[in-house]
Amino acid sequence: MKRGRVKPEAGLNLRDKPNGQKVTVLSHNQLVDIVDEVTFYRVRTSTGEVGFVHGNYLENMPPTRVEDSNTGAEIGAASLLHPSEEFNLTVYSGSEFIGETVKVDKDFVPELNRVNDYAKACEIKVWVTSSTRNINQQVRGAIVPPATKSCHFVGHAIDMNLMLDGKLFNSQKLKKANYNNLPEQIQKFLTSVRDDNVLRWGGDFSTEDPVHIDDNFYYRNQLMYKAKLLSRVGQLNAN
Ligand SMILES: [Zn+2]
Repeated sequence: MKRGRVKPEAGLNLRDKPNGQKVTVLSHNQLVDIVDEVTFYRVRTSTGEVGFVHGNYLENMPPTRVEDSNTGAEIGAASLLHPSEEFNLTVYSGSEFIGETVKVDKDFVPELNRVNDYAKACEIKVWVTSSTRNINQQVRGAIVPPATKSCHFVGHAIDMNLMLDGKLFNSQKLKKANYNNLPEQIQKFLTSVRDDNVLRWGGDFSTEDPVHIDDNFYYRNQLMYKAKLLSRVGQLNAN
């Protein structure tokens, strides 16, 4: 018979049915026999009925909408590409990345890999000047103010200059007004970022920020952004 080990340090609730009543709490590292490898899904119909169905009989479809649990408001056509609520600071080293050490959340790495691919295709280098941004005392307090929407706070953004043939393209040169004067390879790189399904180029922001690239994490999935931020604040406060 297959066996399982309880992973969470805090233990794991044993329930009488999926999401049912708590029977007891299994302790960390406790071993259990896996009697039935059945996965139940809690589902809701369009008319509001809620219940459990056997997972084998549902085909997974891409998520269409995500709601804010407080307001019920729809938070964009969010795709749950990155299900981790944990903030996990990781050093990123891409072949086309130069300059400062790039430290981002682990879940941003696939996006940076695409940035790296775009740079490679355009034969340019990405000089990162800023990645995960410091959180000040105010933000580290119990209440996280709404101003902390920046993807930099959860390690989902970089600020960069671009290098082509040893020439540096900074915020002045990368300004949208200067776009048509930029070398073709730089334009192609920025176009690749703008055409990416997830990435945003800060040059398109209402307050232009042409050295900024992020994955629109806050607006794509506000709940996950908040979870990530709380996870990071928790880690900072634990240190
Ligand atoms: Zn930025």
